[in-house]
Amino acid sequence: MRIPFDNSYATLPEGFFTRLAPTPVKAPQLLAWNAGLAAELGIVGAEPAQITQVFAGNELPAGADPLAQLYAGHQFGNFNPQLGDGRAILLGEVVDQSGQRRDIQLKGSGPTPYSRMGDGRAWVGPVLREYLVSEAMHALGVPTTRALAAVATGEPILRESGPLPGAIVTRVAASHLRVGTFQVFAHRGETEALRALTDYAIARHYPEADGPLGLLRAVCAAQAELVAQWMALGFIHGVMNTDNCSISGETIDYGPCAFMDAFHQGRVFSSIDRQGRYAYGNQPQIVVWNMAQLATSLLQQMEDKESAVEEATEIVHDMPDLIEAAWLRRFAAKIGISTPRAEDVDLINELLGLMQKDGADFTNAFRALPTDHARDQFTDRDAFDRWAEGRRARIAGEPDPKTVMNAANPAVIPRNHRIEEMIEATVAGDMAPFERLMKALATPFDETDPELQRPPTEDEIVPATFCG
Ligand code: AMP
Ligand code: MG
Ligand code: MG
Repeated sequence: MRIPFDNSYATLPEGFFTRLAPTPVKAPQLLAWNAGLAAELGIVGAEPAQITQVFAGNELPAGADPLAQLYAGHQFGNFNPQLGDGRAILLGEVVDQSGQRRDIQLKGSGPTPYSRMGDGRAWVGPVLREYLVSEAMHALGVPTTRALAAVATGEPILRESGPLPGAIVTRVAASHLRVGTFQVFAHRGETEALRALTDYAIARHYPEADGPLGLLRAVCAAQAELVAQWMALGFIHGVMNTDNCSISGETIDYGPCAFMDAFHQGRVFSSIDRQGRYAYGNQPQIVVWNMAQLATSLLQQMEDKESAVEEATEIVHDMPDLIEAAWLRRFAAKIGISTPRAEDVDLINELLGLMQKDGADFTNAFRALPTDHARDQFTDRDAFDRWAEGRRARIAGEPDPKTVMNAANPAVIPRNHRIEEMIEATVAGDMAPFERLMKALATPFDETDPELQRPPTEDEIVPATFCG
């Protein structure tokens, strides 16, 4: 196997990372391999035995320059001055077939100097959740890290519930630069490092951006689009800490994430999010908060502080409008409107209000809108009929509302109970549920597997997710 590495992060100053190789594992077994993505990355000559060894961290591929990255971050609002890759190793970067630079990173590959109390490992559950959900997000058209491989390590790891089978996911990202990467150097007052990082981020992601504030503006725009897409899909990230907020604007770190079934603005899945900080409806505000932290960090390097603070404040204060505009565009399409007007916000919110009151299934209620079964998704059908009347009038002049809706409303999403069922099966040695989900989620706007569109019954509901 040849991976055409072209590493740039490893050329940054010493303090940015710690060089170290993954820790080998006992009995690796390949669970999943993304051949399509491998081809995109220009990986050639891959055969299963070697894929298994390389993506278990047992064999270092030629050209790799493995390292763990340093970063800081606000976790649930509290600043932690040093986090870093505690269980991940960046093997290196490739420039892919379309000319884009991509990171190839093992996650769950053993301890690093940044592991703190952790074991540096992951178990099969979260590894396959990340693999499946990140690939589903990609198919849904959402900017996201991708999954290249999943390997079981053959080693048990200890979690609160007891020993669990270990695994490693190989993640591919536009980069692993986060808000937290800027925070660590800003917090330490390492201005030269901060400047080097800023230059690196601009060159890598936003070459047209003018200086630190240009970078801030570009990241705000990307994050505004991203969170609007999450909202439009009923996606709850679950742990929007600043170390999980990427500079490239990709969704990153699929820990306790989940898609909602029954709609509720306050929905939370993550078992550790006890205050509901990262509830569905809070996500747009949290993104703005995260961008304020990025702004604060970037400002540390500015010569003309006063005017820079003013401009940065304006950029961050403009963000809610950016999010609102992206949100409106996405949700308008979901009800068949391709050129939204400001007052459509009310029409959309009215529908969301009905959905919340009735506990309607978010995905299916929208998907059913262009059909005769739309009202069956609601318990208060008269209220829905009244809403539908208003909407009918609104979309009268729309050229092709049905096509617009079917392109905005997926038929199938990775529902939490299906993911849990898949994880259980995998642990028992049965990969069929994983394969089935992967297949249906590759074309999420097609109704290829109707059973996977069904919301969970009362007994099937899996209300919580866990970090792993
Ligand atoms: P996360 O909440 O997944 O973004 O992780 C927050 C921080 O904890 C990051 O620095 C991770 O690298 C670290 N971390 C999470 N799980 C582990 C683990 N099992 N071992 C070592 N570090 C971990
Ligand atoms: Mg993280
Ligand atoms: Mg995580």
